[in-house]
Amino acid sequence: MLGDMAKRDYYEVLGIDRNTSAEELKKAYRKLALKYHPDKNPGDKTAEEKFKEIGEAYEALSDPQRRAAYDQYGHAAFDPRMRGGGRGFHDPFDIFREVFGGGGGGGGSIFDDLFGGGQRDPTGPQRGSDLRYDMEITFEEAVLGCEKEVSLTKMDPCETCRGSGAEAGSSTKVCSACGGRGQVITSRGIFSIAQTCPRCEGAGRVIERPCRTCRGAGRRERASKIKIKIPAGVDTGARLRSSNNGEAGVRGGPSGDLFVVLHVKPHEIFQREGDDLVCEVPIRFVDAALGGEIEVPTLTGRADVRIPAGTQNGTLFRLKGKGVKNLQGYGYGDLHVRVTVEVPTHLNNAQRAKLEEFSELCDPNVNPISKGFLERAKDFFR
Ligand SMILES: [Zn+2]
Ligand SMILES: [Zn+2]
Repeated sequence: MLGDMAKRDYYEVLGIDRNTSAEELKKAYRKLALKYHPDKNPGDKTAEEKFKEIGEAYEALSDPQRRAAYDQYGHAAFDPRMRGGGRGFHDPFDIFREVFGGGGGGGGSIFDDLFGGGQRDPTGPQRGSDLRYDMEITFEEAVLGCEKEVSLTKMDPCETCRGSGAEAGSSTKVCSACGGRGQVITSRGIFSIAQTCPRCEGAGRVIERPCRTCRGAGRRERASKIKIKIPAGVDTGARLRSSNNGEAGVRGGPSGDLFVVLHVKPHEIFQREGDDLVCEVPIRFVDAALGGEIEVPTLTGRADVRIPAGTQNGTLFRLKGKGVKNLQGYGYGDLHVRVTVEVPTHLNNAQRAKLEEFSELCDPNVNPISKGFLERAKDFFR
């Protein structure tokens, strides 16, 4: 094997001589394994290689038979073609766990215990969950902006332990039920089943003396009131983020966010079209014919609109800037007034007489729409 050419002597790797006892061998391995463990040297490839090399050397020399073979044949003793039922380790982490008493399963809690925590610590701070709150607001509130209060029951940091979960002066220790692995193995007949440790609930660590207020959770469910500022111009579906007002983090972790999703109630008079508003206003047929001023509603009060003589049903009048404030700050939309010409339904005798008199005075040329229609349809009337 090519690699064997460059392989360093196992005794040299561990910094011991050929007469070293099994006990001294283990000590030498422990010292080096801790020094080069990848958790202690994140991203350091040289340390990682060293860690593997140390594991391999220890694996070979810790077994008396293999050590004897190595003493006699050197690296050739472990040539795969000559291998006769070794222990089948190969994983330097397995060796590490065996030496440090961690057994077969689980994460790095033995290592964490030796170094006092780190990235692998399953009991480290955790961010709280985000929350969603659906809120119904009125049309005016959406268009003009407002301030609302959200009432909800959620996890807040425990005020007694300030979120740590531990009684004052107390800290955490490795769970004795699972040895820090977060799992326990139970045997049922010939099967072994790994289960989440019931004592630490999989965390691997337990609090020495849990906070009496929150029983170690570090947070408590509480009714909260949160003020939400709703900007002018929002519409249904808008999602407002209220930072840090979600659920409290675990053991001092940051809080989640609260997301308020808005639902705007429809308005009786105004319809929304983006930043524009549409409003239908009925007018008398005489006003449509004679022209004049009509009064229309706007968001901020009434306004007068001049309509010219001969205004047709459905004509739109635009009131610039009387729409909804743009959410991104690009000014205001417009208000579109659509007139509906109302025909009177109950005429008294005097009104009827005047209208009949009016009718006799009409010739088609004063009704342009009718005139055009009659020309297009004249074939049908013959
Ligand atoms: Zn507490
Ligand atoms: Zn446990």
